[in-house]
Amino acid sequence: MLDSKVVNLVAPLIRSYYERAEGFAPPETPRREFGFGDYEKKIAFRHYSFRDEAALRRYLVDKAPPFASYSTAFYQHPEARPMENKKLVGAELIFDLDSTDLNLPCREEHGRDWICSKDLDAVKDETIRLIEDFLIPDFGFSDNDICINFSGNRGYHVHVNSDKVHELGADARKAISGYISGTGMDMQAFFPTIGLKGVGLKGPKPSDQGWGGKFARSFIKALETGVGELQSFGIEPEIARKLFRKRTEIVLGISVGNWDRVSIPKKADFWKAIIANMSIKQGDSIDSNVTKDMHHLIRIPNTLHGDTALIAKKLSSLSELKRFNPMDDAIAFKDGIIKVKTGRVHKFTMSGTQFGPYDNDTVVVPTYAALYMLLKRVAAL
Ligand SMILES: [Zn+2]
Repeated sequence: MLDSKVVNLVAPLIRSYYERAEGFAPPETPRREFGFGDYEKKIAFRHYSFRDEAALRRYLVDKAPPFASYSTAFYQHPEARPMENKKLVGAELIFDLDSTDLNLPCREEHGRDWICSKDLDAVKDETIRLIEDFLIPDFGFSDNDICINFSGNRGYHVHVNSDKVHELGADARKAISGYISGTGMDMQAFFPTIGLKGVGLKGPKPSDQGWGGKFARSFIKALETGVGELQSFGIEPEIARKLFRKRTEIVLGISVGNWDRVSIPKKADFWKAIIANMSIKQGDSIDSNVTKDMHHLIRIPNTLHGDTALIAKKLSSLSELKRFNPMDDAIAFKDGIIKVKTGRVHKFTMSGTQFGPYDNDTVVVPTYAALYMLLKRVAAL
């Protein structure tokens, strides 16, 4: 349970945020289901519907919920229940990328519940890769079909909102998610002559579309990076050194689909390593279900996240995402200072200022830094 003193401190701030915030009503608001959370459960109440942003604002100002979510699906009767009575019309396609799923080594230092700038940078890169390496080239979505928002805590949500995706069924969504995470692919399809004696090894060219091209480009990149990188693909040190020495020749061959000069002794490991390197980590079942399960509710862009007091900031383009720093650009409460008693807190940087590390200290810090610690439950009032 979050201390009631903290709840009472935060409620008027949430209220003031929604009094002034704009652009938080999702497209086609009247056809969406809404849900709201408390500090224990991110979706504690659901089956709400609102006519427009003004109506949604009235609710948010009145109740000051720490979490606000909406359906990526459109319904004829979004408030109806049970779910079947809502009458599904269509749904966006959603990808939920969470830094915890990347399993970075820094997690050993700060534990699963904390995130550092490395985690935030890595999940941002993963989001850029999802868009640049998959959604745009392989699925043909355009910049205009794609909306990106910071989740408010550990990652990013990518929404694909175009007529093309609205009618996709659960199986198609599952297949798209599977493609992006590289599951169930057959090496034989990319190397048709693999394992055949006396036949040259034919394989994908870097200019190929889809996974074949990704595979070839990834291998060439490893080849140009060095022996260690090749070994990380499961290639024996001796062979890796040989490949590296002959890299110019090999790259030339692969550019026309000729993999003859590449010896792939542990095929399965090699394939797996390249996929792991190239695919997008969509994480555990809950997160990958965000794409598959059309009834899922997801954070409304530009609403607050109740574990951080940061804004689930909507980013209007890929270039805005590239420039975005959540610990700076997603701060909601810039004014004032608050005195808190900390527990053990790893250092963190917000608005260009480093805070901590703290260890049972009493500190006076800007409101946003105090709220970040209080809501992450590593400090008390
Ligand atoms: Zn970290």
